[in-house]
Amino acid sequence: MPVSSDSEFAFELRVCQWAEREWTPERADSVVVVARQLGTQYRRWDTLVLECDPEGLQARGAFGADAFDSDHLHVLEHAPAEWTFYRDALPDPGYPWRYVRESIHELADREALDTRKRGRRIEIRRTRPYPDWVRRVVAIENKPDLTASAARDLAGQLERDVALGLADEVWVATEATDERVEPILLADFPPEAGVLTVDTDAGTAETVWEPRSLDVDGHGTRITDRPGDDYSAARFEYVDPDWKAGKRRAIAERAYERGWRSYADTMRPDCRHFELRADETGVSPYCVAKERTPTARECRAGCGSFEPEPPVWRTNGWPIEGGPGAATKRLLARRRRERRPGLEYLLVADLDV
Ligand code: SF4
Repeated sequence: MPVSSDSEFAFELRVCQWAEREWTPERADSVVVVARQLGTQYRRWDTLVLECDPEGLQARGAFGADAFDSDHLHVLEHAPAEWTFYRDALPDPGYPWRYVRESIHELADREALDTRKRGRRIEIRRTRPYPDWVRRVVAIENKPDLTASAARDLAGQLERDVALGLADEVWVATEATDERVEPILLADFPPEAGVLTVDTDAGTAETVWEPRSLDVDGHGTRITDRPGDDYSAARFEYVDPDWKAGKRRAIAERAYERGWRSYADTMRPDCRHFELRADETGVSPYCVAKERTPTARECRAGCGSFEPEPPVWRTNGWPIEGGPGAATKRLLARRRRERRPGLEYLLVADLDV
């Protein structure tokens, strides 16, 4: 029986499952990586689809599963093939060099960079080139119940996304019903934004409005204030292509690390009522006590219905090491890594379930 998408959270998981299974990338050989709840300090997207260069993704895997932040990326992208004093190798970061030195030490600890001391000077050398692995970034806003007021609220966010052009495409995903999406609901949306209806029971989706590709390589406009009346001017600032490229790489890194199954990190798979239920469209968390997919907000430390796994589940009476809660986390982590070629060595370490 399908696990109903009776909350925005459940709908979001269904959209991620569908995208991982069915998303058609612009270039046929691209590999799709899906993540949820990521963005910048100004904007968080519900679902992100990365269309990745297959060789680049494989090469990225050689750096391990953890994300690099933008300071790390600044070093990795300019790290030389031969030993060089770090200040000669790297462009001026625009912030104090001591932070660059911190990043260099962190990268060395992760074996992502070679370092040595020559007198008082730190020299660096790359262990391997950091690849250009992301071809396209697609942002999806999930709104299962697209009422007139929800559409109006969303329109302003979509305008901001289009003006900034950080993602190659922006979409709205809404739940498919027996009725078609009323064109009047879409009238406020910028024409560049695509609209998708998702049938969560069948695990299918249909495009209602095709998006236009945004100019991610050009300047963007960040709308900082958009008055609701017709008289006041909007406030905005320009952002340059380098800023956008840096943000895209940092977002992609976080998406690579987190994927969309990280809900187990904040939910309570160690609760006796927590289950992963599978149907033909994928696997979803399920609460036996609530008889539905709990929201991430419900399923946490303060949940009044929480009951710990019986101790016997964790010991000899249960065949899975650490009990089903720990096994659930390992299962989800394994699924995440299966989508990331080059991390097989971590998979082996994880297969002790
Ligand atoms: S009872 Fe509460 S903590 Fe346990 S699975 Fe359900 S929502 Fe999560």
